[in-house]
Amino acid sequence: MALIVQKYGGSSVGTPERIQAVAERVIRTRKEGDEVVVVLSAMSGETDRLLALAHTMSATPDERELDLLLSTGERVAIALLAMALKARGYPARSLTGRQVGIVTDDVHTRARIERVAADRVREALAEGVIPVVAGFQGINEKSDVTTLGRGGSDTTAVALAAALKADRCDIYTDVDGVYTTDPNIVPTAARLEKISYEEMLEMASLGAKVLQTRSVEFAMNYHVPVRVLSSFSEAPTGTLVTKEDREMEQVVVSGVAYDRNQAKITLLGVPDRPGIAARLFGGIARENVVVDMIIQNISQEGLTDISFTVPRVDAKKAMNVVSELAREIGANDVQLTDDIAKVSIVGVGMRSHSGVAATMFETLAREGINIMMISTSEIKISCVMDAKYTELAVRALHDAFNLGNRP
Ligand code: ASP
Ligand code: MG
Repeated sequence: MALIVQKYGGSSVGTPERIQAVAERVIRTRKEGDEVVVVLSAMSGETDRLLALAHTMSATPDERELDLLLSTGERVAIALLAMALKARGYPARSLTGRQVGIVTDDVHTRARIERVAADRVREALAEGVIPVVAGFQGINEKSDVTTLGRGGSDTTAVALAAALKADRCDIYTDVDGVYTTDPNIVPTAARLEKISYEEMLEMASLGAKVLQTRSVEFAMNYHVPVRVLSSFSEAPTGTLVTKEDREMEQVVVSGVAYDRNQAKITLLGVPDRPGIAARLFGGIARENVVVDMIIQNISQEGLTDISFTVPRVDAKKAMNVVSELAREIGANDVQLTDDIAKVSIVGVGMRSHSGVAATMFETLAREGINIMMISTSEIKISCVMDAKYTELAVRALHDAFNLGNRP
């Protein structure tokens, strides 16, 4: 008998009928002899609806109150599923983040999980009751409700699987796995049978929005095998996110990801002396803005340029910090470009194969695409370009690395 955490996303519980279908699937898993813990998102569109409602009260709703409001979406879903299970004769129990003892830090609207007690989940399992847990929410030390950031139910599910030492965490969504790239851009994109945690982490943070990045970090740190599956299909296929193995290393590039939600900020004519970068990025960090790529040119006559990217939603905040600093240090100018895209290739095989970067740059050059910024890690190469080239770049790279389904 295995213990499986099943997480169902918003589209999987989007209507009463879909919730009934989830109940059936949970019951089927139980009948197959496995123990199930269910984690749910809010019904699709609900979190957005609540956010919009909050914005009718204030342009910048208080984040403590916002978290309480947003947490209700998941509560609706768990109560409904527990009713559906009970109506079918299966004992079930809805549990909120507080009841499960999901304790987070204090950062409202994007809190990080610090510990998971899960006593009531274990208690339910011991009684033969199916626990149905609200995703996306926890409480801070003061017992105020917090939420984990958009897509946070994935993280609830994996953290709970880790705490319970579950055999697997199955993430049910509206796609049947992780693909070599976005099938909306490249129709021949292929589903990956398996992907390593590290690759998935890169793909997730690069804008392939199948799993919340934090959930992959949890899975990697606690060795939780995660399966991404479609709740709209009966096929038990999907993609397994797991430890890297030999077979994976044979493949040089596993996928092409893109991210159109970044903005580039350039500081021109910055005095080239110790402490400037520390002040710049220290100021941005204090605003809780995450900086991605950073490039600094060699200096000429004691002046240099620094470019970096931030999430587009945070561009204004970052610009405020940068503009103020620019005045203080006497930089020449600050520029913001927000119609950029970051296109990346990812693969653990890059560690042991050479020439991958060259192929990427040649491919982009052939398409006449100008590269604005480049960054690399052991298993990833990213290029920033004009947003209008996103599709072209993704298609060309997917082709160049032979990633498509072979006819
Ligand atoms: N309901 C939340 C959201 O829409 C959390 C989740 O779905 O994972 O972001
Ligand atoms: Mg999601």
